[in-house]
Amino acid sequence: MALLKCDICDGSLTMEMDGESAKCDVCGMKHTKERLKVKLKETENSSSDSSNSSF
Ligand SMILES: [Zn+2]
Repeated sequence: MALLKCDICDGSLTMEMDGESAKCDVCGMKHTKERLKVKLKETENSSSDSSNSSF
């Protein structure tokens, strides 16, 4: 699983207790679950270009 990074400072994100958001360890920026989902999708799309295409 890819490590989520902050949009602002590229710091690592820590999931909040409620599981609905994640907070940046560095700048304290809060990222919602929906935002994290979008980020994950972006990561998958950008990395799938060079990875295997057996399917
Ligand atoms: Zn940050």
